[in-house]
Amino acid sequence: MPELPEVETIRRSLIGKVVGRTITAVEVHLAKAIKNVPEEEFVHRLVGTAIRELGRRGKHLIVYLSSGDALVVHLRMTGQLLYLPADLRRHKHTSAVFIFENGQALHFVDQRKFGCLHLVAVGQWSEVSSMRGIGPEPLSDEFTVKYLAQALAGRSGRIKALLLDQTLVAGIGNIYADESLFRAGIHPARPASSLNRTEVEGLHHAIREVLAEGIAHRGTTVRDYYDGEGKAGEFQERLAVYGRGNLPCPRCGTPVVRSRVAGRGTYICPNCQVVRP
Ligand SMILES: [Zn+2]
Repeated sequence: MPELPEVETIRRSLIGKVVGRTITAVEVHLAKAIKNVPEEEFVHRLVGTAIRELGRRGKHLIVYLSSGDALVVHLRMTGQLLYLPADLRRHKHTSAVFIFENGQALHFVDQRKFGCLHLVAVGQWSEVSSMRGIGPEPLSDEFTVKYLAQALAGRSGRIKALLLDQTLVAGIGNIYADESLFRAGIHPARPASSLNRTEVEGLHHAIREVLAEGIAHRGTTVRDYYDGEGKAGEFQERLAVYGRGNLPCPRCGTPVVRSRVAGRGTYICPNCQVVRP
């Protein structure tokens, strides 16, 4: 699933291609992908508008339009946004196509079909269910050690589950949760409230470092993720634990173990991340 670094990479790869373009037609191939307005209204409000800016909030890509609306895209499991010629033969997993005046188009391709499109007036973010109560951006000044310490205090839930909770902090998914916890030397099954101040500081630092590196290396391609130009990311080559079951921990050489924490496949080094205190 594309997480913050992947969505940010998609955003950056598309800015130079779509900002300033006018949408001349919209094809909807999977009506259920549109969540908050009827299909006809969705198409009507998009056609004739120009793309003003591309933003991101957590795992959401936000397409700001000249009409004052914003198209909010959540790629969920397998969604892809690809800038390709408009006359390309439609892929069988194409959910929608946004056609521009220059003969190019943004193709929303989604094999698992969980991706979501919302069309809202700019600022009406609460109409997007997954943006309701969304937590701070982890790379923003709002996400401080103090904030994280307060958010974890008194929470008996497992630390990994809380990192995946988008209302606590936005944009972290399975890959970057595992990598952050490994770097901080924290076992993902630890109750959040058991982390001491030093561990919270270490985790805060690890989250920001891992996400920044993920962006610098254009995201992690393990299966379906490609940027807007169809290019794979490079961070998969730098993962310490995620997807590396039985391979040596880069820090101590102990084989990485795959287990299940918070209902998700979870990778840890059993030597570097111990369950205590
Ligand atoms: Zn280790």
